[in-house]
Amino acid sequence: MSHYGQQPTAIEDEGSAIMREPATGAARAGLNIIMIGPPGAGKGTQSRALAAQLKIPYVPTGDLFRNEIAAGTPVGLEARRYMDRGDLVPDGTTIRMVLERLRQPDCRMGVVLDGFPRSVAQAEALDAAWAAVGQTVSVVLHMKARADVVLTRMSNRWVCPKDGAVYNKITKKPRLDNICDLCSTALVQRPDETSETQRVRLEVYDRDTAPILRFYEQRGLTRTIDAERSMAEVSSALQGAIEQLQRAP
Ligand SMILES: [Zn+2]
Repeated sequence: MSHYGQQPTAIEDEGSAIMREPATGAARAGLNIIMIGPPGAGKGTQSRALAAQLKIPYVPTGDLFRNEIAAGTPVGLEARRYMDRGDLVPDGTTIRMVLERLRQPDCRMGVVLDGFPRSVAQAEALDAAWAAVGQTVSVVLHMKARADVVLTRMSNRWVCPKDGAVYNKITKKPRLDNICDLCSTALVQRPDETSETQRVRLEVYDRDTAPILRFYEQRGLTRTIDAERSMAEVSSALQGAIEQLQRAP
């Protein structure tokens, strides 16, 4: 089961999808990257940047849900029925929605998937769907960070309720204490970023992620990145992992 219905996530738009033409006319598998990391580890930001750099689409599944629901597509309406009841969206619905997105032509040269798979059943469905079109998982980038580090980071995050500007009491202080630099509004903490909510989200993350990591580790697909370092260091570590992959025979 997925947890989209219960976990509020930041609104993120999809990375621009610029297609790369294959070097030869021959069909070849794309660079299919799966991002795994706890909430608060900077996965969304890093994933989007990586996708932009590699010129492949960034596909955060949270966005897919919002888009499909907003567009009123059959799969969107189905997801909404569960969410309106306060139920989790079942694997089948999630899988259908993601696979539909991955069939779009802009994903032929690869994709950076964020938020999927969230279960071994989803991972197996992804394998089967990709195998049917000559694709495969290229690498699983595991952004690893300890819960206490992520909690500390998140507890220092403050946002402007008016324009959404994000500050951090340690790494990105506003000029005046607790006041937005842009519009002078008093900063607030998002209700979903309080330490108790975060702690629960991290527990759910650990529980759901462990079997998925095992699934990919058994096939040697996982690269672990220390996500406790600075944004710049994490970014270059992620790029390094991709370069290493591209150099491999
Ligand atoms: Zn503001």
